[in-house]
Amino acid sequence: MSYINENFMQLQESYLFSTIAKKVEKYTKENPNKIVIKLGIGDVTRPIVPECIKAMHKAVDEMGTQEGFRGYGPEQGYDFLRKAILENDYKSKGIDLEIDEIFVSDGAKCDTGNIVDIFSEDNRVAITDPVYPVYIDTNVMSGRSGRFNQEKGIYENIVYLPVSAENDFKPELPKEKVDMIYLCFPNNPTGTVLTKEELSKWVQYAKKNKSIILYDSAYEAFITQENIPHSIYEIEGAKDVTIEFRSFSKTAGFTGIRCAYVVIPKTLKGYTKDGEEVSYNKLWNRRTCTKFNGTSYIVQRTAEAIYTKQGKKEIEENIKYYMENARIIREGLEEIGIKYYGGINAPYVWLKVPNNMSSWEFFDILLEKVNIVGTPGSGFGPHGEGYFRLTAFGTKENTIKAMERIKRSKNLLTK
Ligand code: PLP
Repeated sequence: MSYINENFMQLQESYLFSTIAKKVEKYTKENPNKIVIKLGIGDVTRPIVPECIKAMHKAVDEMGTQEGFRGYGPEQGYDFLRKAILENDYKSKGIDLEIDEIFVSDGAKCDTGNIVDIFSEDNRVAITDPVYPVYIDTNVMSGRSGRFNQEKGIYENIVYLPVSAENDFKPELPKEKVDMIYLCFPNNPTGTVLTKEELSKWVQYAKKNKSIILYDSAYEAFITQENIPHSIYEIEGAKDVTIEFRSFSKTAGFTGIRCAYVVIPKTLKGYTKDGEEVSYNKLWNRRTCTKFNGTSYIVQRTAEAIYTKQGKKEIEENIKYYMENARIIREGLEEIGIKYYGGINAPYVWLKVPNNMSSWEFFDILLEKVNIVGTPGSGFGPHGEGYFRLTAFGTKENTIKAMERIKRSKNLLTK
């Protein structure tokens, strides 16, 4: 007989995107003449930029030649990409890292999920609420969550850090000692950010408590304001306490191509039960070599092209395109008096649902009466209730149309 990993029994079904899909399908079946605009799922719509496509074609052609053919590559990523990352994302910003502190992967979802492998099951984990669900579910799977409390909608052993309009979407430091802290800024789903001063409080907390911060900056490219850190390593001392996750998914439209990276500084240490200091970089390297055979050469060459002068210019245009959508969404909501957050340093606008409606009630009205799909905030955690996420990743035409519809429905939505 084989026994299962019973931690999986603690997982709560995530009905969010499947419920959305079912509701949208039912509505469109019953109303075939209505055109529904989707501003729900956070997937990009702009095609891959020409500079990346050129690099991809070149890499494909190379693979068909005897000299250019590549088999298994280095598990940690090819040096050409790791160097480009190091120079452009860190050294040029005054952050000193080494090449073997960067691990290239096939996505930040895998990285943020797999990282739990190198941490003890006994660690106490703090997670903001609402949140990108991967952080919670992977800690449930690996036995750190305790039981799910149905009444409260939370796991007993996870320390939740609520973020809402009341604290301006800035999580407060945990009252108790925690060992692992997940932070994501610019934030999915709220679209909000922390300043350098605000982030340094977390670095200090982690230093004092010998905790590790798992910092997801998948949306770093969308920051427009100054004094908002692009990397947590801009904060003094962060290299001793932080793992940083980055992704090319939203930066360069790689959601389908798949490429990301994680930074684990060599100064980052954890402890055995006997108090022996161990390098997390070493553990992750060991894990990577055992469980991963590297991101494909073609994909890494495509990612490298993001860092050329032309590549930078082209992806910047795409980012501007999405942030223009965010502006259109923000201004539309403002016009009809719906309170919103985010959308300035992130491609997400997080709006306060009017009239004390629940997130799902608002979803239904928006779908059935305005023909627009968004994401109910409660799907990201209990403190997301009463909020709603709109994404700026749609096409400009659809975003304009959607906001015109919303403005025309002002009475329906806000009365
Ligand atoms: N981290 C956050 C906060 C995200 O919102 C997402 C995707 O939506 C990811 C990571 C996943 O990125 P990737 O496509 O690189 O797996």
